[in-house]
Amino acid sequence: MQTTFTPEQLTDPGIQRANEILRACVHCGFCTATCPTYQVLGDELDSPRGRIYLIKDMLENERIPDAKTVGHIDRCLSCLACMSTCPSGVHYMHLIDHARAYVENHYKRPVTDRVLRWVLARILPYPGRFRLALLAAKIGRPFARLLPDPRLRAMIAMAPKRIPPVSRNDDPQSFVPVAPRKMRVALMTGCAQKALNTDINDATIRLLTRLGCEVVIAEGAGCCGALTHHMGKEDESHATAAKNIRAWAAEMDGAGLDAIVINTSGCGTTVKDYGHMFRNEPLAADAVRVSKIAMDVSEVLSKLDFPASPAAQEMRVAYHAACSLQHGQKIKTLPKDLLKNKARKIRTLEALTPDVIAAGNIGCMMQIGSGTGVPVVHTVELLDWVTGGPIPPAMGAHGRPKSDIPILR
Ligand code: SF4
Ligand code: SF4
Repeated sequence: MQTTFTPEQLTDPGIQRANEILRACVHCGFCTATCPTYQVLGDELDSPRGRIYLIKDMLENERIPDAKTVGHIDRCLSCLACMSTCPSGVHYMHLIDHARAYVENHYKRPVTDRVLRWVLARILPYPGRFRLALLAAKIGRPFARLLPDPRLRAMIAMAPKRIPPVSRNDDPQSFVPVAPRKMRVALMTGCAQKALNTDINDATIRLLTRLGCEVVIAEGAGCCGALTHHMGKEDESHATAAKNIRAWAAEMDGAGLDAIVINTSGCGTTVKDYGHMFRNEPLAADAVRVSKIAMDVSEVLSKLDFPASPAAQEMRVAYHAACSLQHGQKIKTLPKDLLKNKARKIRTLEALTPDVIAAGNIGCMMQIGSGTGVPVVHTVELLDWVTGGPIPPAMGAHGRPKSDIPILR
């Protein structure tokens, strides 16, 4: 695609990167076939190609975005399916991230949007505040229909009925390996996940230590910054990401780290992009070091030897591939392979009635769980169970006896 940025505009590193990306696009439209918003809405401007044109026009002309343009950009789910489909290697993620920051700096949203976004940015990344908000949502649920904004009503409807107690496993500390030590890893404990579901980090720590990892929860590490990053709030997202970079760099310079383990795939996509996010900042070198050793938990597990599991009961597992894992991180088969390594076979979700649904992202687990009676667990909870850990609590709550050791199929 031809671009017409002026030499002066191109002195801005963000515009330089946008220019490279825009020039790679050949308008072929292959990406539209896999874009969920285009598939549902049927509007070219809600497709990757349409958004690319809108962003190009906005940036080249330094245009103050209008509500229509912002709507098309906001509706992008950042699923990155378009990046997997694009034959020209267009890095849509960096382009939409830059466009969101531009919109945030140049567009004045309606007051309700501004208030809602301000509240979300100040609650979700902080587990303590989020926990209080979940409690308020639980108490306010009967009155939710009185709220004027449908988005608030939807959020209250999504809030879990049970709020788990705080897990002290998420506090800064080090867990010694149970088997002979193979790796020293830092676990990113996250933000919203710590308030919504403490079972995932607990299972991850048990599983990794059982397989020979020393697991460190680094002092000062917290939210990855993805939530505010996707809102275009660059200052806030960089501030939280910088804390992680400093915390993990200190561990790398201290006792050393073989990996930074992330068990929420959306966060993993962002941490792996820290090198790009901080490319023009003083923390650039440390950000690159962090991104280089950031791994989804399935990547780390694939490097470790699983013990043979005793077989007792067959189980049908449906695996949900999170978009941030398969498109954002290009991890398509590893989690399924890990489940299969403990199983005779695994079949697809749609074809069968599963006993359990496994996913690698808390957001997906919440969404899927709100629409099914089948227990939804994180992949690591199943792998922890089949290697000697407790039954995932979500499955115990569905009436499974606690002594079952499953054969996954
Ligand atoms: S598939 Fe790639 S090159 Fe083709 S229109 Fe989409 S982004 Fe552009
Ligand atoms: S990230 Fe997903 S929703 Fe956004 S343009 Fe690409 S395919 Fe469509």
